[in-house]
Amino acid sequence: MRVGLLSDAHGNLLALEAALARLGPVDALWVTGDTVGYGPDPSDVLALLRERGALLVQGNHDLAVATGEGLAWFNEHAAAAAELHHDWLSPLERDALAALPRVVASEGFTLCHGSLRDPLWEYVTSGGAARASLELAGTPHGCVGHTHIPAVFVVEGGATRTERPRDGDVVTLGGRCLANPGSVGQPRDGDPRASCAALDTTAGTITFYRAAYRVDETQRRIRARGLPDFLADRLAYGV
Ligand code: ZN
Repeated sequence: MRVGLLSDAHGNLLALEAALARLGPVDALWVTGDTVGYGPDPSDVLALLRERGALLVQGNHDLAVATGEGLAWFNEHAAAAAELHHDWLSPLERDALAALPRVVASEGFTLCHGSLRDPLWEYVTSGGAARASLELAGTPHGCVGHTHIPAVFVVEGGATRTERPRDGDVVTLGGRCLANPGSVGQPRDGDPRASCAALDTTAGTITFYRAAYRVDETQRRIRARGLPDFLADRLAYGV
């Protein structure tokens, strides 16, 4: 089974379309949260993922946009965008985001946005944090998002190895691992291209991809819709 793994699309429709095109045909799409927040097209991004039958989990931005919960923890730009998105989305769309599960298991993988210790808010950036999260999973493997940086934490005996995959890299999952596909809509690893990955559940591998898209057009839409300039500027640098 080939599974497209996406995270942190953040209302960036052009980036999502590029990522889906780069992935090509998949048997399933899994999305580890933050479908909305930051970008110019939250409603279109949510609609496209639902149309594609994606399995979505809730991220901290999804909850904040839907209900206002957690807004106090956001920086000013993130909070301004979340409040605008709240107003742009219909009550039905907000209800759908509010009702998303925070943890879901499928095909031997447990999906959440942050970590199994704190599904909405913890940033897993170290082998120790990845291991602690996996210990709470009822499956061999896990998928997370939230950091906007692609990574695979592979548990091997007593040690945890951290891979920082680039475009085209294939990582073997091994016995236990936690994978983060990076961010579709707002990458923060210095590469502005949309980040995504594909799991091959039969071969036990994950392949990472980057997809170029019209960053300038997303920036234009961000400014045209009255979102903070900073959210447009950062997309050019992937930070
Ligand atoms: Zn995010």
